[in-house]
Amino acid sequence: QNLSGNEIRTLFLDFYTQRGHQILPSASLVPEDPTVLLTIAGMLPFKPVFLGQRTPEFNRATTSQKCIRTNDIENVGRTKRHHTFFEMLGNFSFGDYFKEQAIAWGWEISTKVFGLSPNNLVVSVFEDDDEAYNIWRDRIGVKQARIKRMGADDNFWTSGPTGPCGPCSEIYYDFHPERGDENIDLEDDSRFIEFYNLVFMQYNRDASGNLTPLQNKNIDTGMGLDRMAQILQKVPNNYETDLIFPIIQTAAQIAGIDYHVSDDKTKVSLKVIGDHVRAVVHMIADEIRASNVGRGYVLRRLIRRVVRHGRLIGITGEFITQVAERAIALSESAYPNVRQREAAIKAELQREEVNFLKTLERGEKLLEEIIQEVKQQGKTSISGESAFTLYDTYGFPLELTQEIAAENNLTIDEAEFDAEMEKQRTRAKEAHETIDLTVQSSLDKLAEQINVTEFLGYTQPAATAKVE
Ligand code: ATP
Ligand code: MG
Ligand code: MG
Ligand code: MG
Repeated sequence: QNLSGNEIRTLFLDFYTQRGHQILPSASLVPEDPTVLLTIAGMLPFKPVFLGQRTPEFNRATTSQKCIRTNDIENVGRTKRHHTFFEMLGNFSFGDYFKEQAIAWGWEISTKVFGLSPNNLVVSVFEDDDEAYNIWRDRIGVKQARIKRMGADDNFWTSGPTGPCGPCSEIYYDFHPERGDENIDLEDDSRFIEFYNLVFMQYNRDASGNLTPLQNKNIDTGMGLDRMAQILQKVPNNYETDLIFPIIQTAAQIAGIDYHVSDDKTKVSLKVIGDHVRAVVHMIADEIRASNVGRGYVLRRLIRRVVRHGRLIGITGEFITQVAERAIALSESAYPNVRQREAAIKAELQREEVNFLKTLERGEKLLEEIIQEVKQQGKTSISGESAFTLYDTYGFPLELTQEIAAENNLTIDEAEFDAEMEKQRTRAKEAHETIDLTVQSSLDKLAEQINVTEFLGYTQPAATAKVE
């Protein structure tokens, strides 16, 4: 009997509770930290603690943290292991235990609680971190050939350009140990999957890139719940676990197709729908609303991708609330707020879907004509001006036009698109300045009445943050 996703989460939290960690609930996907758009890791809610700005109530904590990583959007459905929304299981030490203990427990939970055979495990350490290397080899007894030294890209963890950071050590699962210790390439995802990252958080990086030691040495870890489920449920990818596959099946059912006999392209669309619907359900549960800036734009973009991929697999009408219902049912035991926010979630999703379907239909027609014309002229690229019209008038994000263009082996003139965007910004600014001159005094009055500072904190960085 394989462990369910819910059981894996509970086993992880229980293991660390028994070792003196306080269980804390997942923080919101909307971080308090203004330097990031969305919660991208379990450590984020503890950032002030790591920086010594807040004294923690406990010196050991364990969580299952909801995360969203927009940098993985393009990986969704294309790799076996990346989601936008996923849960990160973590154990944290705030100036308490450090490397040796974190490694020992990391190994113990992997091999004893989750029962993974040491023959199936490989670990990585930061290239200069002899201390971690020696602990793995001497204290844990991992074969030298199965400890890999890696560079800063993989094994020096940072939560952003500035902030707490440190060398890390990762545990990988090896699906094919019979291929031998001589050929270990951790980048080869047909053989390996990273599932647990142990970060030895001991520096703060400032804006000019300097590292200064933190007051305390801390431990920050992250185990991907969906990845552990893939391993333990012996399914070929994260998407076929009990945490997400039922959502995919609901979408397939609406489309009248069967996932298991679908071609790769259809499977990608189903995975995108499964992943994104789960993401948007949690985002709206955490009170994010669709808009054209910051995280609101991330939400809008994810919803639009769901609608678009629905059409690719033959769904013509509205379907998103029905799929969302399945996602809500799947996560409500661990996240009761999702059911509490059901009405708001469905209303927001439906409104966005209906609006987008309308513009999509008009835009798709136009784009089809453009593509025909470009092909007739023997060109390989769509003008930036056309792409901008689709963006500005039909709500087509550039990425969507690019995606459809790519399906037709065409590219977009991005430089021209950017230039059009810039022109529009200038126009908007001029318009804005005119307003400022004429109604400045009434605007000032308005500003006094509403508490603008509260909003500036996040619309500012959010509006300029890159969504990719
Ligand atoms: P990868 O190299 O596979 O992209 P990562 O090194 O970016 O992963 P970390 O930042 O170390 O990931 O996050 C800690 C853990 O969270 C990972 O070991 C993995 O189990 C999980 N994780 C990270 N990104 C994702 C994702 N996009 N989807 C699902 N799980 C993820
Ligand atoms: Mg990554
Ligand atoms: Mg990695
Ligand atoms: Mg990692």
